[in-house]
Amino acid sequence: MDSEQLQYCQTALTALKQELELEIADLELSARPVQLDQQAVGRVSRGDALQQQNMALANLEQCRIRMHEVLHAESKFGVTEYGYCEACDEVISLPRMLARPDSRYCLGCQSVVEEAD
Ligand SMILES: [Zn+2]
Repeated sequence: MDSEQLQYCQTALTALKQELELEIADLELSARPVQLDQQAVGRVSRGDALQQQNMALANLEQCRIRMHEVLHAESKFGVTEYGYCEACDEVISLPRMLARPDSRYCLGCQSVVEEAD
């Protein structure tokens, strides 16, 4: 990957990170413990509030996992390994890196990793 391509990927990665930061902040608010005070909950029943809280917690977990991947990708910049598959060391295609700048694997290895899960 040349420096211009790296720049594109870094921009995409930074945008993704900011998006995740906002989403995590938002979800952290939704995932706060449910208030017992019915006034605060309004017409929403406690059951619904709990359900919403659980959904927020599940989403929050997903976002944190993704953030971990983003930070991992970020740490690879400047050490020449960014853009290379962590399994086979081949260059990952630019369209893939731009679409998912936190990719660890090339498309081929990704499907193998996913099957192993
Ligand atoms: Zn690979």
